[in-house]
Amino acid sequence: MRKFFISIFLFFIFLNSTSAQDYDRFFNDKACRIDFQFCGDNKTTTAWLDHLSEEPLWGGRRARLSTDLNLGQNRIQVFDSLSNQLIYTEGFSTLYFEWQTTPEALKTKKSFEQTVQIPYPKNTVRVQIDKRTGFGSWETLLTFHIDPNDKLIRRNHQPKAVVREIQKNTTPDKAVDIVVIAEGYTASEQEKFFSDATRLADQLFTHEPFIKHRNRINVYAVAAISEQSGISMPHKDKWLNTAVRSHYYTFYEPRYLTSPANYLIRDYAGLVPYDAIYVLANTPEYGGGGIYNFYAFASADSKRAQAEVVVHEFGHSFAGLGDEYFREGADVLDGMYNLKEEPWEPNITSLVNFDAKWKNMLPKGTAVPTPVTDKNKTGGIGVFEGGGYLTKGMYRPSYDCRMRTNEAREFCPVCQKAVEKVILHLTEK
Ligand SMILES: [Zn+2]
Repeated sequence: MRKFFISIFLFFIFLNSTSAQDYDRFFNDKACRIDFQFCGDNKTTTAWLDHLSEEPLWGGRRARLSTDLNLGQNRIQVFDSLSNQLIYTEGFSTLYFEWQTTPEALKTKKSFEQTVQIPYPKNTVRVQIDKRTGFGSWETLLTFHIDPNDKLIRRNHQPKAVVREIQKNTTPDKAVDIVVIAEGYTASEQEKFFSDATRLADQLFTHEPFIKHRNRINVYAVAAISEQSGISMPHKDKWLNTAVRSHYYTFYEPRYLTSPANYLIRDYAGLVPYDAIYVLANTPEYGGGGIYNFYAFASADSKRAQAEVVVHEFGHSFAGLGDEYFREGADVLDGMYNLKEEPWEPNITSLVNFDAKWKNMLPKGTAVPTPVTDKNKTGGIGVFEGGGYLTKGMYRPSYDCRMRTNEAREFCPVCQKAVEKVILHLTEK
């Protein structure tokens, strides 16, 4: 009986900490943007606050504010200063973390721009930036307070750009709001950008569960103007002056397209309410990139598997899906996973904590690991060795998946479920 009362009590605490009315109690109808820097090398990481801004539009969720999906290499936690109650949390990953696994980080210290947007607090809050140390363990890197009345919180800083709604199905509080930002489009290429952004949205809606939940998804296009047309390719000695300073050859990998100018990207994103950022690069060059709750990049005119890359990168940036592919020999991101830990990505497992992954989706009697057969090569769920860039010790849920090859037709069932979980998290009341 006593146990019963305790669980009732805990249930009420849980309800109290996650109820929808908390939004109006703790937050205003606008956003607070937190810019900070991750600094360090392959072994050490520090985080330093850069600056705070008020932004007019909050596109994020208004329910389950303190619910954590346990996704991302980092998380932010926001506490009401007076009561110490957790009032908002969100996971995210970083370009910095990937850089830490490259050879350059063995001998150089660097800093990377990072941004998290939170709903604008009504009262003073304590903010904590944490780094993941295991599947369910965290280390705090940075703590600070935000006084919402601080006169030095930057306001009215948005750049000018033409904004168009590509698809508007519902209000931002009930929607997954995707902002597509133009990169490498000159002033005379704005119409090409809007048509490319429309194509990008159409490509997302060729995949489940985006098709099923289309009416919960808004897509906006922000026509940032570049001085020059195209995208920088340092490995071909080509540097161009573009809106968000992106380039291929990230970490010396020819196809890896990213931008170090995260603050600039956020300036353009802040013109609309947003949950997810897609930067569309005006180039036929194959490549892209995607980092959870950071941004995704894709090329607009690649003849090779453009739709597949668009959806694959969004799998990373929107739902935190891991790469299910692996390559024999050296990989630029070798060392990204410690096989003694369960990775946080929902679609790969080291089997250290498989219960927390897709074990409950396995058909009865499935062998773990699952040998590849002619039958399961064409579909179904198992535990197949190879994934997360590793041939041994890491496992994926299906023989093929959008997160593994361009030849796959769709996300595997585990990835579909993981994407749907994020869509529901952002849109359910
Ligand atoms: Zn998958």
